[in-house]
Amino acid sequence: MKMSRLFAPTMKDSPKGVSDPVLKRLVRGGYVAALGLPEKLFLFPLGMRLWEKTSRAVEETLLSSGFQALRIDEMERNLVNLASGFIKSYRHLPLRFYQKNRHGFSMTGLEEDVKSASGYIPALLENLRSALSTKGKEALYGQTVSADGLESFVALTVQRSLPWAHGGYRCVSCHWCGDENSPIHGPVDVYKGFPGTVEAVDTPGADTIAELCRQLGVGADKTLKTMFYAAEGKKGKEIIVVLVRGDHRISDAKVMKALGASSLRFADSLEIRETVGDLAGYLGPVGLPKKLKVIADRHVEGVINVVTGANEPGKHLVNVCWGRDFAATMVEDLICFEKDGSCPLCGASIEETSLSRVVTAVVPEEILPEDSEVSFQAADGSKKRPALWSGRVDMDAACVALVPQEGPLPLPFAPFKASVVVASMKNGDAVAAAEKITGKLEKSDVDVLCDERDERAGVKFSDAELIGFPAVVVCGRDASEGKVELRLSGKGNELVTIDEVCSRIIEFLSA
Ligand SMILES: [Zn+2]
Repeated sequence: MKMSRLFAPTMKDSPKGVSDPVLKRLVRGGYVAALGLPEKLFLFPLGMRLWEKTSRAVEETLLSSGFQALRIDEMERNLVNLASGFIKSYRHLPLRFYQKNRHGFSMTGLEEDVKSASGYIPALLENLRSALSTKGKEALYGQTVSADGLESFVALTVQRSLPWAHGGYRCVSCHWCGDENSPIHGPVDVYKGFPGTVEAVDTPGADTIAELCRQLGVGADKTLKTMFYAAEGKKGKEIIVVLVRGDHRISDAKVMKALGASSLRFADSLEIRETVGDLAGYLGPVGLPKKLKVIADRHVEGVINVVTGANEPGKHLVNVCWGRDFAATMVEDLICFEKDGSCPLCGASIEETSLSRVVTAVVPEEILPEDSEVSFQAADGSKKRPALWSGRVDMDAACVALVPQEGPLPLPFAPFKASVVVASMKNGDAVAAAEKITGKLEKSDVDVLCDERDERAGVKFSDAELIGFPAVVVCGRDASEGKVELRLSGKGNELVTIDEVCSRIIEFLSA
């Protein structure tokens, strides 16, 4: 293709109002419009090519992972109805579908049971992770707890300035990533010591854990937080108590998942009074009504001699022990993943990072509800309902996250693999060399762009850099001696013969 025919409005200066370095590069390189940013990505032809190539890699991975393409409105809901006539036996399952949409792909799977879905999704995400990994930019795999269930995702590290970046963590040595709602599986310390006698002590003005610790001379890990929440779920509103250690933060998402709640907020003083009567002062778990639902974090189970609120003004209790002085209805992972944790997969240290989520899949907690019409005969002859899971691939996020701030685009996703630049259109030998090389590369199915614009060489070189071709051929003065300059990404520059240059590029592209 000829550069003079390509609609690629490159920019010499930085676009106003765009702060993220990758978005800036995409605008300057003529990939996307500054209009609509940062929320919306308006794609120019180069941007479309990047989008299509990246999407193709994802689509091929979906197809090779057993997916079939569909187009159905409201796929997840309608698919169940449409599939009800087809799925009769366990032999018809699993069925996995994807649908391409304007911003990416939506995925839906019908599986024999939740176990089959939970086993399949990590393997699928690993395939997508590797499809989206390039030299120098590995995609990461993580899991977080959401109100719906366990969310598995693939993310790429980006700058915080990107609008769809989220704060998170990554392992320094493996592909793990996560955020504050990532599950914590590690072993919990075993509490040792001789249980003391519970005593109420005066703690005037100890409104924070820090002040309480200062007054009593204890560490925050020797205190408990007692929080009253109002949770809204299928059965309506419920007042519950959450217990975590004083040095931990509560993850609302984990509490919601543990309760199967759709919303969560702190209970107000009236709701607390209606539930537990006239408690005043610092709240604690000792002496709460038996019928009250108390959920404790894993790190609270087995505590010995900790400090809790006394449910009396200005007082706390010391030497409070798990089991003897209070109990919990449920013990779950309820706290935020913190940066001083270690990698759940390999145990290495983790660091803070900004992540752009590209693929997300939610593993269902349950099979399809009883009122759904789909059922099938299981291998043992019993009648079962399938499990349904869903996910999505955000291609806008993927394209942006894969583009470096400067330098060539990753080879598999570059809109054009090679550019043939004519340094001066006045040099007939250079023009002829460029035409010959471009023609030869096109015949070999290489996406090549020939820059034959009547522009200064400096402008052409700068545009080639902004667009970021993995391979650039410069046809200049040496063309009259049958030589051109070849610049391959990561390999430096060299003079090669016109006859040799195409095979060198093809060899480089297929490596
Ligand atoms: Zn790791």
